[in-house]
Amino acid sequence: MMAELMKSVWLEENKISLRQVPMPSSPQEALVKIRLAGICATDLELIKGYYPYRGILGHEFVGDVVGLGEEVADQTQWLGRRVVGEINVRCGRCENCKGLRENHCENRSVLGIVNRNGVHAEYTTLPLQNLQVVPESISDEKAVFTEPIGAALEILQKVHIKPTDNVLVIGGGRLGHLIAQVLLLTGANLRVLAKYQNQIEQLVMRDIRPIRESELSKPIWDVVVEATGSSTGFELARKMIRPEGKLILKSTYKGNLEVNLSSIVVQELHIIGSRCGPFGPALRLMEAEKIDPTLMIDSVYSLNDSMAAYERAVAKGALKVLIRP
Ligand SMILES: [Zn+2]
Ligand SMILES: [Zn+2]
Repeated sequence: MMAELMKSVWLEENKISLRQVPMPSSPQEALVKIRLAGICATDLELIKGYYPYRGILGHEFVGDVVGLGEEVADQTQWLGRRVVGEINVRCGRCENCKGLRENHCENRSVLGIVNRNGVHAEYTTLPLQNLQVVPESISDEKAVFTEPIGAALEILQKVHIKPTDNVLVIGGGRLGHLIAQVLLLTGANLRVLAKYQNQIEQLVMRDIRPIRESELSKPIWDVVVEATGSSTGFELARKMIRPEGKLILKSTYKGNLEVNLSSIVVQELHIIGSRCGPFGPALRLMEAEKIDPTLMIDSVYSLNDSMAAYERAVAKGALKVLIRP
């Protein structure tokens, strides 16, 4: 018997194509029908080869549970639920899992990034423990941002930002904007260095104050978040941070960075890498309308037009491009 097929965005040897692949199935996992998915900078870096990955791209999604694997078939309360899904699938047995650092599980797979097909497709599968039900008041267009908002919230999981701090976010793109919405909630003196006019306008619409590069002269910033995904962003961050300040890195990109480490020693800077974050708070903040990511929506494409969607996502100043299967 022929396996049932579905459409997907397939990455292989730095090229993406629209491809028919077998429907996913896993005995321990739920089958999720994708409603809406987002294209993230990580997807674009994967195409460039930031990490060797072959398979279906995409990790930001909202969808419906439409099936259950045979080992979880009794969990019928999940059927028909609208969900988002945490992207790290852990083993539960390694030292990092036992130490409650599950995101660093030594045997993890990561949705659409490491050893696990992603969500730019009609369906995906994930373990039930990765899924979170989306409250009814949150639209699909908002829920699809749960993962990047969680990633922005991870900064607050890692660093104490005081209401009296001067905080600079470098980069007003997709992630930089969401980070700014999150950090605004701390009451800190927050400024965002954005490059493009549309980014600046969107920040202002959320009562976030932009700053121009020409206004940055003295290293007065207690906390600097680098969210540009470029080495020039890092260099600027390093220069603007005050002695003993905190530099938070949010971007992953292909290649290595040339860094003047002596200046980090002399200035006694704290450098903090930060990756995936919690989904629960992201959903709560959207439900309470404290965060609204919908300004970030650039355009919506069908899965059939997903090659055009990816082309749009790499355009200068492009915001969040969505794919609706
Ligand atoms: Zn992402
Ligand atoms: Zn593990």
